[in-house]
Amino acid sequence: MDNLLISACLLGISCRYDGESREYDLKGLEKKFNLIPVCPEIYGGLPTPRVPSEIAGDMVLNREGKNVTAQYNKGARETLRMAKLFDAKYALLKAKSPSCGKDRVYDGSFTGTLVRGEGITTKLLKENGVEIFTEDEIDLLLEKQAK
Ligand code: SF4
Repeated sequence: MDNLLISACLLGISCRYDGESREYDLKGLEKKFNLIPVCPEIYGGLPTPRVPSEIAGDMVLNREGKNVTAQYNKGARETLRMAKLFDAKYALLKAKSPSCGKDRVYDGSFTGTLVRGEGITTKLLKENGVEIFTEDEIDLLLEKQAK
């Protein structure tokens, strides 16, 4: 079976910014892939729970205005290291997160407004050839594996 990086919070691990856990229906993905849980924000040195952050231009700022770009970049690099260690060609990452989001992220205003864009980790993984899916695209990922 191929290895698949997966946002740990999608597995019910309590690494979300609010310290809560939420389990998602993986539609049997665990029978098709070896799941490798990752949490870039933890790898970047941030605590749980933590002040939520959003991407603002070329920086990541938390809701208190603190610049946490370095932590987000470190988390992305460490997650890429995991992808290489496990030779993972695919990653299933949590939508809308400033680390893991794909296609859309919050706009930096902390008003719940989404804009086109991607998380810091998503971007680095993509640049290194890892194909990214969100929890809304599990069917696509399963189709890919079936081919
Ligand atoms: Fe989940 Fe990614 Fe946020 Fe970690 S950084 S809590 S894996 S969305």
